[in-house]
Parts: sequence; C-alpha cells; structure tokens
Amino acid sequence: MKIHVITLFPEMFRGPFDKSIIGRASDRGLVEVNIVDLRGFGIGRHKLTDDIVYGGGAGMLMKPEPIVSAVESIILDSERESARSAWVVLTSARGRLFNQRVAAELCNHSELIVICGRYEGVDERVSQLVVDDEISVGDYVLTGGEIAAISIVDATVRLLPGVVGSTQSLEDESHSRELLEHPQYTRPAVYREMEVPKVLLSGHHAEIARWRREQSILTTAHRRPDLLAMAHLNDTERAIAEEAVESPGEDA
Ligand code: SAM
Repeated sequence: MKIHVITLFPEMFRGPFDKSIIGRASDRGLVEVNIVDLRGFGIGRHKLTDDIVYGGGAGMLMKPEPIVSAVESIILDSERESARSAWVVLTSARGRLFNQRVAAELCNHSELIVICGRYEGVDERVSQLVVDDEISVGDYVLTGGEIAAISIVDATVRLLPGVVGSTQSLEDESHSRELLEHPQYTRPAVYREMEVPKVLLSGHHAEIARWRREQSILTTAHRRPDLLAMAHLNDTERAIAEEAVESPGEDA
C-alpha cells in the first residue's frame, strides 16, 4: 500500500511513521509513506497556502489551489495505475467518524492520499474537486489534521497483511468483533495481593475462551453499552449483557 500525506508540517510525522510498527512495515516494503510538503505548492513568492474567509469570520482558511495541485501532482503525474485511482481522504471535524470498520475499508485501497487541514479548515471546493471521503477521528476539534492523519494511517496500516505478527491478535482485539476486549494479565500471577483470575492459569482452553467472551460482554456493557445493539449475541449472552447494563459493577 502506498500512502501520501499532504501537510504543512512534514516534521510532525517523523517519530510516528519512522518508528515501531509503521517504521518496520516500511522497512519491510509492506507500506510506503510519502509525506508531501504543501508549502511547495504555495502561491507566489511567499508560498501562500491560506487566506481570509469570505463573508467574514475569525482566522484564515486553506486556499484550494495548493491542495488541489498537490493531489493532482500525485494522481496525474504518476505512471502508476493505483495512483490514478487513489482514494483521497480529507481530515475534517465534519467528516464521518473513524472506527475499525472504516480502517478496514481504507485498507482495501492500494493507494491513499490524506490531506491535513489547518487554521479554520479548508476551502469547500477542495472537497468538491478532489476529495472522496471526509473523516473525523472524534467529536472534538484538533488544531490540525496531522494528529488525525497519524491515527488514521496507524490504524489502517496495522490491518495490512503481515504488518502485525499474529492475525489472531487483530481478530481478538477491541472493536474487531463488535465487543471490547476482555481484561488481560501477564506475570506475576500475584501482584500487590491481586491475583490473576484462576481460570487463566488452568490451561483449560474452552473455559478460558468462555471466561474471555463473558468478560468482553461485561466490559462492553459497562463501558460502551451503545456497542451492544449491533453485537451478535446468543440469548444467554444477551441476558448477561442486559443485566450488566442495569447493574453496573466490576468487569473482571
Ligand atoms: N473550523 C473547523 C470546524 O469547525 O469544523 C475546524 C478546523 S480545525 C481547527 C483545523 C483542521 O484540523 C481541520 O481542517 C481538520 O483537517 C483538522 N481536524 C480538526 N478536528 C478534527 C477531527 N476531529 N478529525 C479530523 N480532523 C480534524
């Protein structure tokens, strides 16, 4: 997969994209991240990328021409077929909410372009001309799209085949199976007089799987009851979930 990030602050991506899982995925050729400095597409001697807001209002808005030129430089100037069909994402507090399902959707595109807004946002004509998808990482406003882009790219890249060591860990984690993850423990078995649940030490795989499933349901019921409506639960599990929602308590 090839991912282009268009930004006024290329240096913000150095740590997150050079290290850890994304860094290793790049080194192994599983993903290629190309950071595009929007300033290079700025207008005039001063390389302007922002301007006043028509109709009045506080702050400045990102001009359409530099962003559209940056996107077109990737799509039109490329010989790659995948670049011509690249999926263009605008980070935006007004976008559809990002989640695991959206990350899995993005994973299906062989080439992505992510645009980072700044200031008061981006001239609307950018969306009309070159954007396929506006994505928000949550119901709050960030200073710029860079932190949103890092989240979007990170969550998407770790779903690419081979990036995370074990596919089991992707399948089991929160949001992959409609429920939040069950509690997890590592050594020591007793820490400050707190014991790891005995079933996890039993070696009895069926019992462990049953315990984990029930704990996932309880954790979800206590912390994110909104997720239960969409979850596929049998009658017994649904009853456990409903009781937990009505009488919140300890998960594990
Ligand atoms: N005036 C805009 C509004 O009310 O929606 C907010 C602009 S914000 C200060 C500047 C940029 O940060 C946006 O253009 C967008 O790229 C990014 N941004 C802010 N909040 C975001 C969010 N929740 N998700 C994704 N991007 C966000």
